[in-house]
Amino acid sequence: MGYTKEDVLRMAREFDVKFIRLQFTDILGVLKNVAIPVDQLQKALDGEMMFDGSSIDGFVRIEESDMYLRPDPNTFVIFPWRPQDGAVARLICDIYNPDGTPFGGDPRNVLKSVLAEAAEMGYTMNVGPELEFFLFLTDAEGKATTITHDKAGYFDLTPVDLGENARRDMVLTLEQMGFEIEASHHEVAAGQHEIDFKYSDALDVADKIVTFKFVVRTIAQRHGLHATFMPKPIFGINGSGMHTNMSLFQDGKNAFYDPSTPDQLSETAKYYIGGLLKNVRSFAAVTNPTVNSYKRLVPGYEAPCYVAWSCRNRSPLIRIPAKRGASTRVELRSPDPSCNPYLALAVCLKAGLDGIKNKIAPPAPVDENIYHMNAARRAELGIDSLPASLSEAVDELEKSEVIKEALGAHVSERYVEAKRGEWDSFRISVHPWEVDEYLTKY
Ligand code: GLN
Ligand code: MG
Ligand code: MG
Ligand code: MG
Repeated sequence: MGYTKEDVLRMAREFDVKFIRLQFTDILGVLKNVAIPVDQLQKALDGEMMFDGSSIDGFVRIEESDMYLRPDPNTFVIFPWRPQDGAVARLICDIYNPDGTPFGGDPRNVLKSVLAEAAEMGYTMNVGPELEFFLFLTDAEGKATTITHDKAGYFDLTPVDLGENARRDMVLTLEQMGFEIEASHHEVAAGQHEIDFKYSDALDVADKIVTFKFVVRTIAQRHGLHATFMPKPIFGINGSGMHTNMSLFQDGKNAFYDPSTPDQLSETAKYYIGGLLKNVRSFAAVTNPTVNSYKRLVPGYEAPCYVAWSCRNRSPLIRIPAKRGASTRVELRSPDPSCNPYLALAVCLKAGLDGIKNKIAPPAPVDENIYHMNAARRAELGIDSLPASLSEAVDELEKSEVIKEALGAHVSERYVEAKRGEWDSFRISVHPWEVDEYLTKY
């Protein structure tokens, strides 16, 4: 696989591309665009496009504002919903400092450096994400609501449903953009959907997650709907997760598979699980980055809230799907789709590598339903809880050298600052719950 610069120039000519969007994300995972006319493409591919980074969240101070964009030719894709003549394409870029070094505030660079650490140990990382989202109606002014028209449930077939039509269109569009869609179905809640695409190497998957969210939102809009990746839009029903299936490969073989052990999991897999369990409280602020993320991680809605793993049960944080051989993998169920996928995969991998390097054996798997245990039983089994709020999660992140090292100094500092600000803004607000609860009582 892999396009060269020449391939990109040729495809741009062949498909009559008029504009190219140079894309990257800020530390919160928000997609940014600089559009250039096609006659600037050669210059862009040579890494000569500059932009002012000072206005991007978590980037740079005014005095060091000039940054270089280096497009990754592999990410070239034409937007299928744009006109055939005068097409629009995009390239995802890495960000470089004026002195030619990778910029530490670029999330894609953060993931690349943890991937390089894994490569030094002989590993590549494969990831298969399962993104869930809601489709809501928009009001007369085109504003998003939390109202859905659909009454369907898990795997229901409702041919007349607006959401089903939109989802079919999303799948077709994603396929045109090079995604291999493995499954797409209605989720448990009304208006909730899931689309799963085939696993691939971690960098490609992070790029795809960013693209996926943008495509899903764009297509929803064309159907008069609003797609949201907010983790818990409605109290009392399931939220949206981003289950993350991970495996490490070494010399072309799945390093998590070992047919000679009783559960066919290798020592590497066990240490990886040990590392995830040890570090999950510290990286929750990255995989579950919003105030709202912690409204999802509560008992009763198929989302994890306790730190445990299992081969059988679906309630724990980490599940080992039954597939073995090349498909052997660890499914982490805590991440939600509001995360920055580059940073989320970087911290997950770093946590797993920490487990492997330091031979962190996981505790015994828990095959009982943890939701049905009381606090005393959980304490007896040594089962910890995930952070209960963004504030607690940020405290944990700040205490973790492992996770701060994964993010690098630039991102850790800006990230903590941004998340503390977000928490404070929430903390000082007066919420409808408080008014309902107290207004007439006191
Ligand atoms: N929506 C659930 C979550 O929040 C997951 C449901 C499922 O895929 N089984 O994680
Ligand atoms: Mg799923
Ligand atoms: Mg699901
Ligand atoms: Mg799953």
